[in-house]
Amino acid sequence: MIVIKTAREIRQMQDACKLSARALRLAGEAIEPGVSTYEIDTIVRKYIEEQGATPSFLGYGGFPASACISVNNVVIHGIPSKKTILKEGDIVSVDVGAFLNGYHGDNAYTFACGDITKEAQALLDATKESLFMGIKQAVAGNRVGDISAAVQEYTEARSYSVVRDYVGHGVGAKLHEEPSVPNFGTPHRGVRLIPGMTLAIEPMINMGDHRVRVLDDEWTVVTVDGSLSAHFEHTIAITPDGPMILTLPD
Ligand code: MG
Repeated sequence: MIVIKTAREIRQMQDACKLSARALRLAGEAIEPGVSTYEIDTIVRKYIEEQGATPSFLGYGGFPASACISVNNVVIHGIPSKKTILKEGDIVSVDVGAFLNGYHGDNAYTFACGDITKEAQALLDATKESLFMGIKQAVAGNRVGDISAAVQEYTEARSYSVVRDYVGHGVGAKLHEEPSVPNFGTPHRGVRLIPGMTLAIEPMINMGDHRVRVLDDEWTVVTVDGSLSAHFEHTIAITPDGPMILTLPD
């Protein structure tokens, strides 16, 4: 079932979304060589809790931390650890959700740790831009496939590949709601978009091929070929006036 939110509910949800965006910004500001992903996670958790909210991911399906922090060839669901020390040249995907006033906000960003290669920067730029290409299609009357195809076309035209096994999703009172929002698909296919839908659009894009696998910890998703992977995400609302990005910090 797809939950449609009223304008008032969307405003309420925006508080959770802004909070998760601010937590993500704080995480980004803390990323530098020598810092552990555990320290980044602690900053995220403390900030969210200080604001009277709950980290959406903490304990979700048994996930042991507040942020997913995924370095280099880790695609998503990286578990923060004192043993994972960031170094110059790493790309660091941070995924943060916050639950406040009955709603979740969900967003992700891949940060550069110090100076990164031209190739890595190009992957980040393309993945971020593909998110906005997807958001542009998130208008009433379009279908989910229009979002999916926009992300896929933009990234594959640059010889990157789209992760198949994990997708975006509806978000609201529950962290994961219907519909699924794949980052690959066919225009004009899938669920029709109507005002009041709130979606987490989240391209996960690999420099190599699209295949991924899960490590023995049952969380960490890595690229099979060891190539770099980037992940950008916003929570958006479909409104009569077009897509509204909810996960902006200000
Ligand atoms: Mg998400």
